[in-house]
Amino acid sequence: MKIKFWGTRGSTPVPGKDTIIYGGNTTCLEIDLRGGKKVVIDAGTGIRSLGNHFESRREVVDIHLLMTHIHWDHILGFPFFFPIYRSSTKILVDGYSLGMKGLRYSFDNKMGDGFFPIRFEELKSDIQFDSKVTQSSLEIDGTLIDSIPLRHPQGGLGFRFREEHKTLVFLTDNELDVTGNSFGDYVEFCQGADILIHDSQFTPEEIPRHRGWGHSDYQSALDLAFEAHVKKLVLFHHAPERKDSDIIKIAMLCQDSVSKRGSSLEVEPAKENSVLVL
Ligand SMILES: [Zn+2]
Ligand SMILES: [Zn+2]
Repeated sequence: MKIKFWGTRGSTPVPGKDTIIYGGNTTCLEIDLRGGKKVVIDAGTGIRSLGNHFESRREVVDIHLLMTHIHWDHILGFPFFFPIYRSSTKILVDGYSLGMKGLRYSFDNKMGDGFFPIRFEELKSDIQFDSKVTQSSLEIDGTLIDSIPLRHPQGGLGFRFREEHKTLVFLTDNELDVTGNSFGDYVEFCQGADILIHDSQFTPEEIPRHRGWGHSDYQSALDLAFEAHVKKLVLFHHAPERKDSDIIKIAMLCQDSVSKRGSSLEVEPAKENSVLVL
């Protein structure tokens, strides 16, 4: 499995000098599966660059697009994903039950609502919706993908990818409650994962003021990684206000926490354009 981060930021895109290292684009991941198929998670603004990448390689695009949920920061890039304007493109949307509705919503509708110059129906590509991953394990050429509900306003889905003995878990826009009943479900879902990519929008100092917003602080993400015996934790959905220097400090604080616990957990912040190989 190869995982590329096209967008790592939470809430809204934040281009500029303070976000050069970790990136300013919102959620989008490209996952190359062992069998050769490609999965994309979410259509945040990062998906625009992914589309340009496909274009530059003249690739025929045939992807599964897994939607975690449809808050703006997770759909905003879709009208700017150039392959949707090509008749050769096939996109099978799966995941969150309203995923297709969210993707359609960013275009003009039949009433001419003025959101975008083009109607969804005018797109040349073949875009279908299937909700397989919520019914049971979705199998793509031997890779098993499972989902779990998120603790987030209006809900959402997290995903787990299993290939032979390798496991990747992606949980963003998820408010962990380490003393609540649901925490055990997340521990079970992440058990033994090689890589856990988790929402860490807030610091432990900020989280009391943001309860119910549907995001976690990095300490809760660490607690989950420790409990589930995860090998590597990737901090994701960086707060828009968080500068590169702040994220570096957070990574250092996480390292302190790991050392104090005597754990071998690796921790790193998600970085736009970086690649992880599993
Ligand atoms: Zn988000
Ligand atoms: Zn959200």
